[in-house]
Amino acid sequence: MTKPRIGVTISADETRDRTKELRLKEAYFSSIEKAGGEPVVFPMDTPVEKLAEVVSGFRGILLTGGADINPELFHGEPHPKVYGVDPTRDSIEIALANYCADNKIPLLGICRGLQVINVALGGTLYTDISDQLPGALKHPCYPDYARDYLAHNVMIKVNTHLTAITGQNQMKVNSLHHQGIKDLAPDLTMSAMSPDGLIEGVEFMFHPFFLGVQWHPECLPDSAPNQAIFSAFIRAATLEE
Ligand code: MN
Repeated sequence: MTKPRIGVTISADETRDRTKELRLKEAYFSSIEKAGGEPVVFPMDTPVEKLAEVVSGFRGILLTGGADINPELFHGEPHPKVYGVDPTRDSIEIALANYCADNKIPLLGICRGLQVINVALGGTLYTDISDQLPGALKHPCYPDYARDYLAHNVMIKVNTHLTAITGQNQMKVNSLHHQGIKDLAPDLTMSAMSPDGLIEGVEFMFHPFFLGVQWHPECLPDSAPNQAIFSAFIRAATLEE
């Protein structure tokens, strides 16, 4: 059986010599490989009218972490900590989330990826959790902590794909984000929540695999429930073939 090809989104950051450089944390690739998939960089310059054709070359899509989504896309409150807005990445990832939702293509969203899913389907974000969510825990645990630092707990909701996949009803997770879901998109179900009431997991129930998590399972290679998320994703992508 051939390994399912997974399109992995990537950011193009401007370097000091003013050239753009494609950057991705290696852990996204290794997590997919370990789960039995073939990770491939998704062509981020794909025009929207070519999206269906390009996506047909993949069995699943991974929306990775990264900088902030343009707050104008969800009528978000302007905030000085909003950084790294990239309109090209926003538009291709939002189009991907909608296309995969409509066409039942397996999609996993991590951190920014969960936020993209929510915005694509009509939800909104806090543009800075510490300033906008009263009683918020410390969610932006960077750069002072390691990426695998277990910052807070999440409660996992019963009768969701996430609880079936992880076998857990709560777990400790890492936390590398300063934004988060404010209003949940109408078609999404909350699957995980931190003790301060922030939504940290979402899914589209009537879909083989369409799931987002606010934490970074790829940075927790020794955590069986976290690696089970990648295994379930690759399994869904394999079945779609
Ligand atoms: Mn968090």
